Amino acid sequence: MNKVIDRKSRHELALMQEAGQIVADTLTYLSKIVEPGMSTLDLDKIAEERIRKAGAVPTFKGYYGFPATLCTSVNDEVVHGIPSPHKILKAGDVISIDCGATYKGLVGDSALTIGVGEISDELKKLLQATEESLNAGIRMMVAGNFLEDISGAVEDVGNKYGYGIVRNYGGHGVGRKLHEEPFLHNYRTGNQGPELKPGVALAIEPMFNLGTEDVKTLEDNWTVVTQDGLPSAHFEHTVIVTEDGPLVATERTG
Ligand code: MG
Ligand code: MG
Repeated sequence: MNKVIDRKSRHELALMQEAGQIVADTLTYLSKIVEPGMSTLDLDKIAEERIRKAGAVPTFKGYYGFPATLCTSVNDEVVHGIPSPHKILKAGDVISIDCGATYKGLVGDSALTIGVGEISDELKKLLQATEESLNAGIRMMVAGNFLEDISGAVEDVGNKYGYGIVRNYGGHGVGRKLHEEPFLHNYRTGNQGPELKPGVALAIEPMFNLGTEDVKTLEDNWTVVTQDGLPSAHFEHTVIVTEDGPLVATERTG
């Protein structure tokens, strides 16, 4: 069954871009100041202050009881890590920072994974490949394509490098709420899904693991980690289909 994806109005899309730019600014700033010795809660406090100062609200805080502004997932943590004063970053770590902001009721959602200090070539390659797959997915956000085209583009990059493509989590519709229909797999399912039309907004968010694709959730009921303890990377953008091609609402310019 191919459901139609809800399309946003021009006004809603403009607000989503404002929300997206607040998220982009926050992630750009955090990526500049991350250094060994900081805790993940330090990053969270800085992010919350920056988002509120911009007149927006941290979307994740209170979402199904999530306690923080950011999801901070270090090394083998894939997604949904909870910021903590006890989680101290070390040189050589990789941290995925996922951030959402709601501005005048509309949501921007974006994530990136960055190295703390100097990281290994193996990890640099994992980060580059995951971002490459996000960009491949974004290029499919063209009117007339189908949802599965995005999934396939992401999957092809993961397979090219031989990484574990996380299957239990994926992208989603976004805008009036953080998570809207449809769910966006990071691999082909054999169902082409709904057609992409102008006004469709999706969060595309590949997660690639250095080892196995298998993940599990820790006892905090949030933090998702790799089964084999090997590192993971996660990149995400909020992307809008327009008459002129893909528009990345959360594009970072800094
Ligand atoms: Mg996100
Ligand atoms: Mg998302």
